[in-house]
Amino acid sequence: MPDVHRRRPPRAVRNRPTFAPIAALTVALLLSLLPALAGCSNEEAPAESPRLLLFGVDAGTWNILTPMMQAGELPTLTSLVNRGSYGILKTGVPIQSPQMWTSIATGVVPEKHGITRFTAEIPGTDREVPVTSNMRKVKAFWNILSEADVTVGIVGWWPSWPAEEVNGFVIAQRAWPVNWSRHGIPFGAARDRSGRLMVEDFDGRTYPEELYADFEPFIVTEEDVTTSELALLFPDPSFTDPAKQFHARWVFAKDKTFADAGLAMLKRHKPDVFAVYLQGTDVVSHYYWGYQRQEGFTVSPADERLYGRVVRNYYRYVDGVIAAYLQEVGDETAVMIVSDHGFETKRDLKERWERGEKIRTVEGGKDVPWDHGVDGIFIMTGPGVRKDNRLPDTSVVDVTPTMLAYLGLPVAEDMDGTATVEAFEASFLDGNPVTTVATYETGGPQGDQTPMESPMDEGIKEKLRALGYIE
Ligand SMILES: [Zn+2]
Repeated sequence: MPDVHRRRPPRAVRNRPTFAPIAALTVALLLSLLPALAGCSNEEAPAESPRLLLFGVDAGTWNILTPMMQAGELPTLTSLVNRGSYGILKTGVPIQSPQMWTSIATGVVPEKHGITRFTAEIPGTDREVPVTSNMRKVKAFWNILSEADVTVGIVGWWPSWPAEEVNGFVIAQRAWPVNWSRHGIPFGAARDRSGRLMVEDFDGRTYPEELYADFEPFIVTEEDVTTSELALLFPDPSFTDPAKQFHARWVFAKDKTFADAGLAMLKRHKPDVFAVYLQGTDVVSHYYWGYQRQEGFTVSPADERLYGRVVRNYYRYVDGVIAAYLQEVGDETAVMIVSDHGFETKRDLKERWERGEKIRTVEGGKDVPWDHGVDGIFIMTGPGVRKDNRLPDTSVVDVTPTMLAYLGLPVAEDMDGTATVEAFEASFLDGNPVTTVATYETGGPQGDQTPMESPMDEGIKEKLRALGYIE
């Protein structure tokens, strides 16, 4: 079994694109030697900075980013946009998270990768379980990179349980436990009366399995969220209705767990490519979007004071998470920020809703005039990436091809997406032309794709129901 602490070859060798043509190889090799020849000009940078960090921000939307950036409220994201290439990342229909996060990770549409719903039936039973990573019919970028001897760290991706064997580490989304609250509501990690974490032991929460022991101390429960942390989201947490705080609290606890654990694991294991998924921007949008006067909603002054900024405050939290990661890496590390879909006010439904009519959104879940939208976000910075560069619209299936091309690996011809070469400087493309390979789906079937049960299934389904995602 590959070990997460596996020794890596020296950087010049490690950076060599395995399949790249000889010309690109020579350039890459020369470039990697330059600092040494120039007398270590990059002394400041950490010795082993990752090559690429990928942040998955669920429901991330320019509808929120643009006005907040204009108001100077998102310094990190603003700096990334100014230093990089950015644009709209179009998503597919139905606009649902596990399908689209899998399209982002594979470069193919749901019909091909096989994750087509939130849940799946175990054959021969009437049991529905949340979708599992083994149901995926094609390789994800972490499989492709692992095979190319690139090390990876994958944290909290959806779906990622059971954690797959990779050249590096995986912390599956279900490593953050889902429990039932006193009120019979599933909300996630919890502690018993003595303060001990309530957690069922089951396989696949991390790869390698023994990494779980390092991860567990990072688990934050809803009740662990401190008043000062809550004050990031709610201007006056002590006077806020606990029932209305609930959804922001549990998802903040989950995101903080993965963000903090991910950062610690990044520092400890230094993977070449690291990805972390954050869910809260989606969850708070579902629950607090309609309190935003900026979005044209009529809100009482009291409600606006308490809840009107929760969505925007959550984006500020995410901006801070990204800032903390950027502090740990040098300028030679590329950064990608993507969302699986956007979020928007459904203007046509809003008018009917305000007249008191019963409405049903496209996704069918909530009788409110706000929901997922097809326009997500894409931001990329790094050496060779064009600066202050508005991209044409791209698609969720373009993310993996773009990542592969940037890392000097071929894009597969059987992927639905293509590399977003408009993000790359001409000089970069000269030295790193995009190459292709017929397919990465070699080596026969991917193994048993039967959905698998976990002790958290009922809790996860109940949460999906509360968000209006399943019936
Ligand atoms: Zn989503």
